[in-house]
Amino acid sequence: MTEEQKGYMKMAIEISRIGMRAGKGGPFGCVIVKDGNIIGSGSNSVLSTNDPTAHAEIVAIREACKTLGDFQLEGCELYTSCEPCPMCLGAIYWARPARVFYANTKKDAAEAGFDDQFIYEELQLPYNLRKIPFEQGMQESAKEVFQEWILKEDKTLY
Ligand SMILES: [Zn+2]
Repeated sequence: MTEEQKGYMKMAIEISRIGMRAGKGGPFGCVIVKDGNIIGSGSNSVLSTNDPTAHAEIVAIREACKTLGDFQLEGCELYTSCEPCPMCLGAIYWARPARVFYANTKKDAAEAGFDDQFIYEELQLPYNLRKIPFEQGMQESAKEVFQEWILKEDKTLY
């Protein structure tokens, strides 16, 4: 990391500290930068918003996309105070930033009581062996909408 990049990470870490002390959620912070400008930031806000998806990265991605008026983060760098969980990892791939920097590791998070290893383990299992049961039904009806999407001429591809 360059000195400038370390500066952004320092901000992500500071945001994690402030959010934690304010009781917003766990000790996680994130900053998103484009062309030297901070376009989004956030701390874990699961507790303050009663939103289980309000991880720092998700909060920051939403803000950055709002700032850009775009649904992807082309050319952006994402600085997160901790290695992303599987949900945030997925969100990062959908948002497509150019690069991700993280400070704490998954192992550090697990030691602090934030263990996401069980999600990785669940992903390896067939649906019938997972902790949350999934059941498929009505595929034909749902597929009609997919068919309409495939044929839709004025769609925005992403
Ligand atoms: Zn996460």
